[in-house]
Amino acid sequence: MKRGTQLTSILLVFICLSLALLTAWQIWFSHERALHELNVANLNLAQALDNYSEGVIRQSELVLVDLAERLEQEGKGRAHLERLQKVVREQSRVLKLASTIIIYDAKGDRLLVSRGDINARPNASDRAFFIHHRDNPSTEIFIGPTIKSRLAHEWVFTVSRRLNDADGKFSGVVAITLSVEHFLHLFGSLDLGKQGTMSLSSSDGTLLFRQPFREQDVGLDWSNSTIFQTLRQHNQATTVQISRIDGIERMYALRRNSKLPLITVVALGRDEALTAWRRDARLFTTVILILLFAVGLIGQRLLVDVRRRSRAERQLLSAREELLDANARLEILASQDALTGLANRRSFDQTLEAEIRRAQRQGSDLTLMLLDIDLFKHYNDHYGHLAGDACLRSVANLLKRCMRRPGDLAARYGGEELAVILPNTSDEGAESIALAFMASLKQSDLPHENSPFQRITVSIGLASLQPDTQDSATIAERLIEAADQALYRAKANGRNRLESTVRQSSADR
Ligand code: GH3
Ligand code: MG
Ligand code: MG
Repeated sequence: MKRGTQLTSILLVFICLSLALLTAWQIWFSHERALHELNVANLNLAQALDNYSEGVIRQSELVLVDLAERLEQEGKGRAHLERLQKVVREQSRVLKLASTIIIYDAKGDRLLVSRGDINARPNASDRAFFIHHRDNPSTEIFIGPTIKSRLAHEWVFTVSRRLNDADGKFSGVVAITLSVEHFLHLFGSLDLGKQGTMSLSSSDGTLLFRQPFREQDVGLDWSNSTIFQTLRQHNQATTVQISRIDGIERMYALRRNSKLPLITVVALGRDEALTAWRRDARLFTTVILILLFAVGLIGQRLLVDVRRRSRAERQLLSAREELLDANARLEILASQDALTGLANRRSFDQTLEAEIRRAQRQGSDLTLMLLDIDLFKHYNDHYGHLAGDACLRSVANLLKRCMRRPGDLAARYGGEELAVILPNTSDEGAESIALAFMASLKQSDLPHENSPFQRITVSIGLASLQPDTQDSATIAERLIEAADQALYRAKANGRNRLESTVRQSSADR
């Protein structure tokens, strides 16, 4: 049953551990899945914003190419510029994103602007886009850094193209300023939570702008970050890192445009993005904890029950053992003579018949010895009945000590008459046992004043036979009869003697 308790405990621990491990695994797995899904969603959004920005810049490029074409073909004469002014205004109106379209001459002075006073505009020869085109013969478009417009006082970045004269020499720049405000409006309309950010940078790692917008972030160089290095080899990347702008840990998805020098970044606050996962994990953990508690409670009850049963079973077992002991004691009592401790008459009768049957089977001898205390009536009369009992007990003890084999059985035949069954013993063997007993009785020298021997003596009748095929009860009768006759002869011949059906002898002559 102890094993039962152990097995139950092991089972309970196993169930609880499995549940706990399964929960841990499930929470970890759902965390990884949530991160993966968030990264995919972020990348998709970055891709969409990248497409949008590319579209806007491509539109601007078309306008720039068209204007450059016209200027290079038709020259910069006043009449032509006036005509172009109308075209530019119309284009600027259609191109809603464009803040302003400007044409600069080779010195950086404005030849034409889509809106506002042309003379009020300062010289642009110190602007990055102007310097880039002046020093670079390529007619590819250039995306300039974000700057604060000198007159409109708004944040813009330029998309510009170099103008060449007929000889292919630098003759000015045509530029479109794109309003950061417009992009911020679009980016701001997307819900990325309180900690979410979106940004657009040029491919050299210079921040054009970031939503939420802060002036001090404009132009920030993040080209030394590890994720920027990853983007050199891949079009897109995801990472989790702490923002150097506001110190918040975010999940970043970055997309580098394959044709334009642009990088779009979408980022979610990590804690905020994982809110749903955390809520689910908390709910799941609570349910599992309740389950574990229930399992523990049921298990504890089960263990108590198993222990109680085990205790009851132990008690039952010990009660059974006690009962068996009591039975054995009863059996001994039932087969024992209370006064002498020898076998009683019932046990004697049963043993005799059993031994006869055994002797029949084995073809062996069986001897019966009958003993009777001499003149015991006188003993009682002289010493009293209690002394008589004590004397009977002493004689019985002496007899017990003379038994040599475990199969030998000494019994109280009745009154002061005793009997010994000696299986597999011839009359000679029995005689030696009887003589040894008479000798030990003599040595004990139990006084008996009213006896001619002055001590307790016994008369013994011996009878031996090798059982034939008669039934055991009849043989028993014959054997007892023969022993009794021998005993009678011993009495008749003067007591304190041994007589047998075969031979006669006396121990006290
Ligand atoms: P003998 O056998 O030598 O012929 O003489 P006896 O005096 O022993 O003869 P008998 O068999 O007639 O007497 C037996 C006596 O033994 C009678 C009885 O008082 C006594 N006796 C029998 N059983 C017990 C017993 O359990 N206790 C005591 N104290 N005496 C017993
Ligand atoms: Mg007698
Ligand atoms: Mg007697």
